[in-house]
Order: sequence, then structure tokens, then C-alpha cells
Amino acid sequence: MFDPLIAFIRDQYQTNDPIPLHAPTFGGNERIYVDETITSTFVSSVGRFVDRFEADMASYTGSPRAVAVMNGTAGLHMALMLAGVARDEYVITQALTFVATCNAISYCGATPIFVDVDHDTMGLSPTALEAWLEQHADQSDDGLCRYKADGKVIRACVPMHSFGHPVHLHELVRVCKTWGLVLVEDAAESLGSTYHGQHTGTFGAIGVASFNGNKTITTGGGGMILCSEALGNRAKHLTTTAKKPHSFEYVHDAVGYNFRMPNLNAALGCAQLEQLPGFVAAKRALAAAYRSFFADSSLSFFSEPSGCESNYWLNAVICSDRAERDRMLEATNSAGIMTRPIWALMTRLPMYDTAPRSDELTQSNWFEDRVVNLPSSVIPGLIPDKAP
Ligand SMILES: *Cc1c(COP(=O)(O)O)cnc(C)c1O
Repeated sequence: MFDPLIAFIRDQYQTNDPIPLHAPTFGGNERIYVDETITSTFVSSVGRFVDRFEADMASYTGSPRAVAVMNGTAGLHMALMLAGVARDEYVITQALTFVATCNAISYCGATPIFVDVDHDTMGLSPTALEAWLEQHADQSDDGLCRYKADGKVIRACVPMHSFGHPVHLHELVRVCKTWGLVLVEDAAESLGSTYHGQHTGTFGAIGVASFNGNKTITTGGGGMILCSEALGNRAKHLTTTAKKPHSFEYVHDAVGYNFRMPNLNAALGCAQLEQLPGFVAAKRALAAAYRSFFADSSLSFFSEPSGCESNYWLNAVICSDRAERDRMLEATNSAGIMTRPIWALMTRLPMYDTAPRSDELTQSNWFEDRVVNLPSSVIPGLIPDKAP
């Protein structure tokens, strides 16, 4: 029953070879820039591409500042430290996310609290967040939000823009403000996605992008912290061993991290970022093709929430139940077309057995049973011609 889908995907990618879920596309200045780092010997912690990549990312996203790091997970870890998340505190996030969101929370010695996602975004629901807070939290006189059960501080809230689809940011900004929570956006999947015309990752105090090999653009491995000028200065300092500026002395004024992005990776990033608008256009064109394919089927294609432009990082289709999901995964993968289910809920993982959670994770459970991601790599033929 999945033969038409398999044929459709093969037709898009014009190949009889195995089709990956998301492979990178190198069609620009990648070789030239990477070669320049080798010729100059500046492949590591110093070099012009890191500064340029940060400046280009700030201007592309409209963020006051961008700080490059070695991967998105390290970026999230640093973002939470900048947000003030400390040992024995809580951070609220969605039950349906990639585990890296929660790993970063755990690195801080904090515990995640899991709430539900929205049906139209697959990301953290402001309604579910507010309902949980009203029932389980209160604000002390110092303005801090505390978990009623043990009086510990709930410091931050981390929504994640699943598969590039923006969450309801205006509402989340409001709820976080009301409750004294620092908003940190896990924008690892949403580079190129906007919410009411503004780039995701720029609504909270801090946002984090990822350039892992399977993301919309790649640096091999890499991440970017988006934030204010002041937080950016702090992030740069802490991610580069917290060394006091001096031409030869080695003096450090805090426990620092070696989270910096090497120049070699930033060179790749500069070349990839030049192509990002074309990649997003191609991914949106592929999403439109999937949408019309599924229009006459019993399966439903997941489309961007209203008011948003999504990068459609990974296309997603919703099966009628778990059995159908399993049949689709079986049929496509055995035909050499790589598809995969959405993540198991974080609430099921042994590390988070005892983490607080909403009683109702209705949407998270619903998506967990039904969502299948389809091949979503950029198809070069769908990249619009560059303007003259
Ligand atoms: C990819 C991803 C990350 C982590 O990025 P890395 O660069 O792979 O460390 C974090 N959160 C989400 C939701 C992701 O998809």
C-alpha cells in the first residue's frame, strides 16, 4: 500500500539508490573556504571564518549577537548556564523532543519538567505550560518561580521548534514573563524558520542553532548561540576558557569551557550560510510536493503553523495509528528509503523516570504513535536561480 509513496519519493530524488533522511548539500564556496584555512594553517581556534560566520549568522537571523560553538548541545548547555540554571533547579520543556534538549538541562545539575505540545506546532504548548504552572508552581516575593512540591526554583523554559515548525512564541514569551522564567529557545532544527516574520531563536533571552551534519546547513559539527550583546560577550568568554585578554599571559577568571568552533568548521559554515535561502526555498518546494501527494490519501501531511514560515527541516506525515506507522516504516526502509519515527517521549527514558510531568501529555502521546519523518534533503533542482 506504500508503493505509490515509494515511487513518489524516488521520483523526487530521481534515483534508484538508497535515499537518506537528510544529507548535506555542498554546492557553493565550501572547498574554496576550507582550502583557505588549510593554506593559511588557521584550521583551529583562531581565524577569520569564525568571526565572519558569527557576523553573518547575526545578520541573517536578526540577532544582536551570535556566538559559534562546537555543537548545538554545547550551545544549549552554555545557554542554560547563561540563563542562570543551577544545580537542584528545574527547567520546563516539552515531553516530545530530541534528547539533547534534556541532556543540556541535566549537565547543569537541573531536572526537566515535562509538559505537552500543541497539535498545530508539535512544540511546547503555552496553554499546557500555563495550566501546569497554575497548578504546581507559585512565585515567591523575590519574583522567582518555585515548584510547590519541594520549593525549588524553576529557572527557565525551553521550547523546541520541532522539525523547524515554530512554536507559539508570542504566548510563550507572555507566560514566561508572567511567571519569571527565562525563555531559551532550542532552535537547533529551525534555522531559516520565522514566526510572524521574525527568525526563531530570537524571541527568548537566548536561542541555539545546530549545524550537525543532518541539519539544514552543516559545519560538520557546530552550533550557534543567539542572544544580546551582553550575554554574547559572556558566552564568548566562557566558551573560550574564560581567559583574560592579554597578548601572552594565561590568566583565567572563571571555570571556562572549550566549546569554541574551529575555523575549519566555520569556513564550511560561511559557505553553507550563503546558500541557506536557496536551501529553504528548495525544502519548502519539496514540502509542497509532499503536501499535494498526501492530499488524496488517508495520511495527513504536517504543515507549518499559521503565521509561520517553516524551513521544513524534516517533513512529517501522520499515520492513523501506531500499526500503520510501523507498516510505513517497514515498507519504506526495506525499499531503501530512509524514514524514521518521531522520538520516544522523554518521560519514558530511564534518566527521567522521576522527573515531574503534566498528567496530560495527550498530544505528545498522539504524535509519538503516528509521526513518520520522510526524506527531506535539499533537491538541487528545486533551488531557485540566484537573482541576477
Ligand atoms: C540537533 C539537535 C540538537 C543538538 O545539536 P547537535 O549540534 O547535534 O549537538 C539539540 N536539540 C535538538 C532538538 C536537535 O534536533
